[in-house]
Amino acid sequence: FQSKFPDTPTSIFTEMSQLAIQHKAINLGQGFADYPMDPLLIKGVTKAMEEGYNQYAPSSGYMILRERLSEKTLKEHGQFFDPETEITITPGATIALFTVIATFIRPGEEVLYFDPAYDSYRPSVTAVGGIPVSVPLNFPDFSLDMQRLQSKISSKTRMIILNTPHNPTGSTVTREQLLALYELIKDTDIILMCDEVYEHVIFDHQQHHSPLGQPLLRDRTVSVHSFGKMFNCTGWKTGYIIADKALTTEIRKVHQNNAFSTFSAVQIAIANYMEDPDTYERLSGFLQNKRNLLEDALKDSPLKPLPVKGSYFQLYSYAGFSHLPEKDFAVWLNKEAGVTSIPLSALTENFGDHQLIRFCFAKKDETLLKAGARLRELG
Ligand code: PMP
Ligand code: GLN
Repeated sequence: FQSKFPDTPTSIFTEMSQLAIQHKAINLGQGFADYPMDPLLIKGVTKAMEEGYNQYAPSSGYMILRERLSEKTLKEHGQFFDPETEITITPGATIALFTVIATFIRPGEEVLYFDPAYDSYRPSVTAVGGIPVSVPLNFPDFSLDMQRLQSKISSKTRMIILNTPHNPTGSTVTREQLLALYELIKDTDIILMCDEVYEHVIFDHQQHHSPLGQPLLRDRTVSVHSFGKMFNCTGWKTGYIIADKALTTEIRKVHQNNAFSTFSAVQIAIANYMEDPDTYERLSGFLQNKRNLLEDALKDSPLKPLPVKGSYFQLYSYAGFSHLPEKDFAVWLNKEAGVTSIPLSALTENFGDHQLIRFCFAKKDETLLKAGARLRELG
């Protein structure tokens, strides 16, 4: 057979994590924590399994969890989403993104996404015959360029993918930008898909602005979330989608045939665990301390941090130190300094090489300090 994806490389996360193992490097590349998750949530899953939650969950997810998410969304964004018809539990955010794309994109239709971007957006669009169109963010603050966005909208545009807080740059969108987005799409049938997996990781007393909180955007927004990021259990691959009833009806037509449902006991345990909002509301402060710790540890190194408003990633510039392209530098750093990063170039299409690498700071303090010591030795 002829490969349908001859140009698709191995994911950069797989590649860099393998290099980390090979060179026994400290892995600040792939986005996952190296500290344990809350044992209380693990006990909750065991308990739910013992209670018999081991067969298929309802296709859209257990109602107790959907109700919790509806209450949470109302509290945080001031808008009610019906747990019966507007909230769907999925096996993680990546599959949720794919499901939404497969639901709405017909062959030849265009999907605009901001560049750089999480690496699954582009291939998910091409897999269903859509055309991904990159809209580079402004440099160096990684803000949205509304004029650039407008210039890319065509009669073929069917969806815009937004990600806030943003992986890999840590930038966030403002309420004004959401309203400007509405102005751009209000007379079209463009759907806004907002990837909000880092909604609870936001720093320096800022607020997360979601399109879910904008009544004007209600009937055209699909938001995607991940419990993996909320509760430090990325391996559990559980997430959810919130969207207006008409959109959710369509999304569930695809969801029921690709996933059907997801891990029963995890859903019950998370619903119980979420009774205490502190379990996720404390995340921002916890990770802000880690961001600061890594910045301090690298103060006397040749790597210079760029500002970050949210997510657990930060870009560092090596421009004053090396002229290598980003990928070559990341490979070199892994081998020579024993610290693994993600080259920004692996997450961009048309953004250019700005000598930037991404570190994940969701790591034990001792891991960050050890990485800092190794990187300071670069001189
Ligand atoms: N979106 C973004 C922006 C991410 O960084 C990630 C990281 N894994 C995901 C989606 C995927 O989340 P999940 O692990 O729940 O599939
Ligand atoms: N979201 C994580 C990151 O950006 C990892 C995703 C993955 O391994 N596919 O690093």
